[in-house]
Formats: sequence, structure tokens, C-alpha cells
Amino acid sequence: LRVLGIETSCDETAASVVASDSPAHGLILSNIVFSQIEEHAAFGGVVPEIAARAHVEALDGIVQAALDEAGVTLADIDAVAATAGPGLVGGLIVGLMTAKAIAAASGKPLLAVNHLEGHALTARLTDGAAFPYLLLLVSGGHTQIVLVRGVGEYQRWATTIDDALGEAFDKTAKILGLPHPGGPSVERAAASGNPTRFAFPRPMKGSHQPDFSFSGLKTAVRQAATAIAPLTDQDVADICASFQQAIADTLHERVGRTLARFRQEFPDCPTPALIVAGGVAANKRVRTTLDALCAEYGFQFIAPPGVLCTDNAAMIAWAGIERLQAGLESENPMAFAPRSRWPLDTISAPVVGSGR
Ligand code: ATP
Ligand code: MG
Ligand code: FE
Repeated sequence: LRVLGIETSCDETAASVVASDSPAHGLILSNIVFSQIEEHAAFGGVVPEIAARAHVEALDGIVQAALDEAGVTLADIDAVAATAGPGLVGGLIVGLMTAKAIAAASGKPLLAVNHLEGHALTARLTDGAAFPYLLLLVSGGHTQIVLVRGVGEYQRWATTIDDALGEAFDKTAKILGLPHPGGPSVERAAASGNPTRFAFPRPMKGSHQPDFSFSGLKTAVRQAATAIAPLTDQDVADICASFQQAIADTLHERVGRTLARFRQEFPDCPTPALIVAGGVAANKRVRTTLDALCAEYGFQFIAPPGVLCTDNAAMIAWAGIERLQAGLESENPMAFAPRSRWPLDTISAPVVGSGR
């Protein structure tokens, strides 16, 4: 199978062609990602209207580039898969409508894919991960631990009760006057900082609830910054390093709880695995923390390459392939309307066209 994927749910315009290599392993023939970061930088965050317009301008060329780089034409494609949610609705409309037009004009089937399902299945595309496994999704919009039992079988085991982890990085950067996007800025500054100078809170620590919370941490950063202002470069570095230390400790404790739960519920699983996805997965401190945690619990730790952790269309094409292989195509995909909210654990299999 060969599937063209399209992703426009946030600030990346992306298209990709992926082939099924073996049932649980894919071959990426092309993976084009155009990041709009510069368009939004002056505003300190993603502006939905600007994002939608930029998708309109870029998408046709990106799709063509993806086909060209893969060395295929639409005639060689078995289906078109597009992100139908969740995300910014303007961008979703651009991507899904483009996919519908391509599908209609070429006579190929359309698959309306859940963006989070794309993240959830990436580790099978790259590493052929076997079900069941745990997914830790840490991005600008999400902080979740999801049990992935099979294609279309997802159970959310934990989520954030307030800010997403990427959001905490972005807000911390903003408080400290560091450039957008905040994650990489904070990581860079932290490199020369003292992680023990500030004792920031470890939110939810010891709680019997499995969830995350990050808004208190951001407030503590603001209070510390205000208390010692004006900030020197060393102050900023120390705050960033102490912030990352709090994140690392929090992830260790929170994710550890869930690994233990997986062990209890799947005592016979021969190769338990934790997969990390989302932009925050690019953070080295986060990676080494999870790596050490997995070693402690006897889990395999799978961190797909950075370009496949952040938003991309290869994961959408791959989710399309998995759905085709599992016989889980949407019933009436041409009638599928974009959904700004579409929790992963509400995906019933098969996904039926919502009509409207
Ligand atoms: P979603 O996919 O949930 O809709 P999104 O598009 O914001 O949201 P991504 O593009 O996967 O998600 O990730 C962007 C987020 O990742 C931003 O919050 C950014 O600050 C964060 N991020 C990127 N690189 C790093 C890093 N090195 N360290 C920490 N955070 C990072
Ligand atoms: Mg993004
Ligand atoms: Fe994403």
C-alpha cells in the first residue's frame, strides 16, 4: 500500500508518501514539513487566522513536492489520508478539503485521520512496536499517557488537569523574555544553569490520581523571576535549569506510576514499551529521564526521531495505512467534517462519517 498523508492541524503544513513495508512497519518515501514558526514568532504564539492562510498558500506546493520526492504520481497512490482533527479548525478545513478534492479527482479513497492516532502509531512506522504499549504524548497542546491496545483501541490513562507540558515551557520562556518557541529556548538557557538553585514545586507528586498539572510550576517561575528582577543571564539560566529539574522529577514520578500500572494489568506482556511523542520529546533532559525510568522498570524506551515526534504527515499517512490494513476505513469519509475537539479514546472503530 502507498498512502499520501496531509497534516495541517496546527502550524506545520506537511505532506508525505508512506508505503507499507511489512504489516507493522512502514517505509517513508517522502516527508515534507513546512513550519510556520517565523510567521507566528512576532506574536509569541500561533495565530489561527495566520496559520489557516499560510496553509492555503503552501499546501498545493507541499503535496506536489511530497509526490515528486517519492517519485510517484497520484495514479500510484492507494489512498489519501488527512488530519480531520483535533486542532485549529481553519487549518483542518484547508487540509481535509484539499484531500477530499484530490480523492474525488483521482478516484482514490479518503481517510479522515485523528491527529493523535497519528502520534500514537508512529512507533510502529519507525520501530514496528508491538501492541500493547504506552504512549506519552507531550506537546504544546497535549500531555497524555495513552494505552495503545490496537489500531482504533486507545485508552487515556492520564492527562493534564491544566497546562500542557509544552505550554509550560512556552509560558516560562515568555516570562523570562526568551524567544518563541519556548521549549528550545529554555533548554538552551538551562545548559549553563544551576538546577538546584530554585526549589520549584513537583505538582501532583504522590497523588493517587494518575494525572499531570503544570500551571503551578509556571506560577512559581513567575514569582521567582519577579522576586529577583532585574534578571541577569545567569538568573535566567538557573531558573531554566531548575524548571527542567522539576519537570524531570515530575515525569519520573508520574510516568513511573503508570508503568507500574501497565505491569499489573499486562503481567504477561513480553516486551513492555514506552513511546514518547510530541514536540517536548525533543528535549534531552526529558529523554534521558524517560530512558532511565524505563531501564528501572524493565521497559523498552522508544523515542522516534525528532522530525517524527513533532507534527508531520508521515504519521498521518501511516495511520491511514494501518486503518486500511485493519479494515477500519470511515464509512462516509467525504461527509466527514473537521473536528476541533476529538479525544483519542472516543474513536470508536470504525470511524463513521459525522455527516454534520
Ligand atoms: P499538538 O500536537 O498537541 O496539537 P503542537 O503543535 O504545539 O501541539 P508540537 O509541534 O508537537 O505540538 O510541539 C510544540 C511544542 O513542543 C511547543 O510547546 C514547544 O515549546 C515544545 N518543544 C519543542 N522543542 C522543545 C525542547 N527542546 N524542549 C522542550 N519543549 C520543546
Ligand atoms: Mg506544532
Ligand atoms: Fe501534534
